[in-house]
Amino acid sequence: MAETVSREIRLKNRPVGLPRESDFELATVPIPTPGAGEVLVRNLYMSVDPYMRGRMLDQPSYVQPFQVGQPLDGGCVGQVVQSQGGKWQVGDYVLGRKGWREYYVSDGAELTKIDPNLAPVQTYLGTLGMPGLTAYVGLLDIGRPRAGETVFVSAAAGAVGTVVCQIAKLQGCRVVGSTGAPDKVAWLQEVAGVDAAFNYKDVGSLTAELAKHCPNGIDVYFENVGGAHLEAALDHMNSFGRMALCGMISHYNETTPSSGPHNLRLAVRKRLTLRGFIVSDHLDRQAQFYNDMSLWIAAGKIKWQETIIAGIENAPRAFIGLFKGDNVGKMLVRF
Ligand code: NDP
Repeated sequence: MAETVSREIRLKNRPVGLPRESDFELATVPIPTPGAGEVLVRNLYMSVDPYMRGRMLDQPSYVQPFQVGQPLDGGCVGQVVQSQGGKWQVGDYVLGRKGWREYYVSDGAELTKIDPNLAPVQTYLGTLGMPGLTAYVGLLDIGRPRAGETVFVSAAAGAVGTVVCQIAKLQGCRVVGSTGAPDKVAWLQEVAGVDAAFNYKDVGSLTAELAKHCPNGIDVYFENVGGAHLEAALDHMNSFGRMALCGMISHYNETTPSSGPHNLRLAVRKRLTLRGFIVSDHLDRQAQFYNDMSLWIAAGKIKWQETIIAGIENAPRAFIGLFKGDNVGKMLVRF
């Protein structure tokens, strides 16, 4: 192996508001050496995800906060380049959790071998990976849509949203998606096959827009955004409707807490179920997810899109881009 150094991205400061590139720093370290039973992995792709914003705060959550001065981590796909025994072979493609760096050593406990013949390896960070499982569990288990019902999806053109829209169509639902750019609206209509999509930045009133697209009301709201989207969805929910609360990205960079939805009282009159969920609590569904998703992909029933930024030095820009809507489908960094 000719290379001797590995680059990594560290958290320089805890961001306040929208993160800036100066909140991160690029560092160079020697490539680590694997011990007995360990492997050296060279990353090929890493994921940037909205949940990482929460890890940049020094507060307790369902994942540990990132530490200032230390490399960040997260989902990544790489290739084994050295193996000191164990079950791993040089050349194996693996899904890992040590993103934001070019090389890492692992004892294999956190690695999953992936099949590059089923789909391109980076798909295991998107449609076949954590965002895909989030969509699957959140829609089918939390939202519980039935054929003929209306499903409304916010951030519909993102990694999770694109999969939610298509699984909901496969369930026989009417699907309406909200997103922030005309090319994303076109992708949702022409590729994902939703019944209606709109650019929320172009509409005066989200409530009036939803009235146009959801003439029979909303039975399932897949919540990725929060704020005005949540309020508009509450206005149109049908009695006994379900809200799968997946994320609320419009709040992640707030410096002062926002007030809650002004119309939450409607949840009582309409007998709604609002249920938050975290994908890592649902790993028992992973095998069924892989099974169903593999069949859907093989049959051409699920399509996906990626926005790929080249170079680890651009990983902070890719991450910040999630909050500006820079991505169609899954945002990835290629090394
Ligand atoms: P996306 O690929 O959807 O990227 C984020 C998108 O959010 C952007 O492209 C942008 O699209 C939209 N967005 C950003 N800021 C705003 C805003 N202020 N108002 C409205 N839309 C905004 O990310 P993911 O698919 O990875 O995540 C989607 C949601 O799911 C997030 O809320 C995330 O936290 C959550 N999540 C939850 C998980 C769980 O276990 N509960 C697991 C994974 C994700 P646009 O152009 O449409 O504005």
